[in-house]
Amino acid sequence: MKRLSVLGATGSIGHSVRKVLADAPELYQVEAVAGGRDAAALAETARALGARFAALSDPAGGAALKAALEGSGIASGAGPEAVMEAARRDADMVVSAIVGCAGLAPTVAAFAPGRRVALANKECLVAAGAFFMAEAARLGTEILPVDSEHNAIFQALASGPAKAVEKITLTASGGPFRQKSRDEIARAKPQDALKHPNWSMGAKITIDSATLMNKGLELIEAQHLFAVPAERLEAVVHPESVVHGLVSFIDGSVAAGLALPDMCVPIAHCLAWPDRVATSCRRLDLVALGRLTFEAPDEARFPALSLARSVLGQGGVCATILNAANEIAVAAFLEGRIGFYGITEIVEATLDRINGGPAPASVGEALEADQLARRTAAALLPKFAAKAS
Ligand code: NDP
Ligand code: MG
Repeated sequence: MKRLSVLGATGSIGHSVRKVLADAPELYQVEAVAGGRDAAALAETARALGARFAALSDPAGGAALKAALEGSGIASGAGPEAVMEAARRDADMVVSAIVGCAGLAPTVAAFAPGRRVALANKECLVAAGAFFMAEAARLGTEILPVDSEHNAIFQALASGPAKAVEKITLTASGGPFRQKSRDEIARAKPQDALKHPNWSMGAKITIDSATLMNKGLELIEAQHLFAVPAERLEAVVHPESVVHGLVSFIDGSVAAGLALPDMCVPIAHCLAWPDRVATSCRRLDLVALGRLTFEAPDEARFPALSLARSVLGQGGVCATILNAANEIAVAAFLEGRIGFYGITEIVEATLDRINGGPAPASVGEALEADQLARRTAAALLPKFAAKAS
């Protein structure tokens, strides 16, 4: 039986992986699971999946994890090194679903010849995409996109040769503020931004979806995954979240990937790839849906998208900075320390303060730039806190 490890096993993606495995237990035996701070949730996940090893990033939770796993025969470890061990353990497939740049080092540690990585963590590609893809190729590791848009595009790309691709389109739901005025958006509180209309996801990506930074991060993600230039990538708002991604070819044909908004669908695709596996996910009923709608994103109300686009065009270390500053700003917004538009303003101000430079050529270089951007963004917080109140 093939072996699977899941990094970020207790999160929203981790839960969807569990659902897919419950439908298809014959697919994998679980080798390792890794989580951040919640020892009880990680122990429960490890037991439910029959994992052999559980790793918690927070060293302080090690004793609680060990106690919760007593009698299960599951080995455990705590601290960043334990998460790296979980990534390196022998497995055919590794799901990368830690949130944020914290997932970069463990995901790269999972690269090994013949291994597949089902990549949910888009921040890896934003922070260090050129290095990440080159390193995966160098080590003979295949990257399979879990992110729904990229998974749809990955499937649609199989309809024609790369040289015949004219344009790649990612759709965006538009988030909870799609129909709100700029003033209403400016007053939005974390609980408003956390109410995503279509998807149930972790807090960080839900806020990114509300600012549309998520779509900006995803354009950068697509640039690296599919090696396409910025001018061939576009984002379109599609409130129903049924058409996830489209590939336009030079003959006028357009191949698209459709499914109901449920992450189990792209996860099942990656876990079974290049085969297919049956899932119990709800099926798409076009007649019941009636209509699908599309509109251009409003970059005046959602400036994060144009900011990410300008970074996409610039290349270099800017994307690493954008990602790090966004992580700090989203956390500050969730803590009620800054207003909603403060998120984009802090990212922009951080980009203004740090001189550009070449794209990171190693995990170490990416983490160095990431740390500098985090410190810069954190130092800017008081200024934006004052503006918000
Ligand atoms: P969640 O916040 O729900 O889960 C994050 C997971 O990462 C948890 O298991 C958390 O454990 C763990 N974690 C956090 N920090 C560390 C660390 N330093 N070391 C090890 N584990 C850690 O996030 P999501 O599942 O929503 O998202 C995960 C990734 O997938 C993100 O990059 C997101 O952009 C991407 N993604 C998510 C989608 C979704 O539908 N949710 C869709 C497309 C992409 P703990 O809770 O204990 O801290
Ligand atoms: Mg997505």
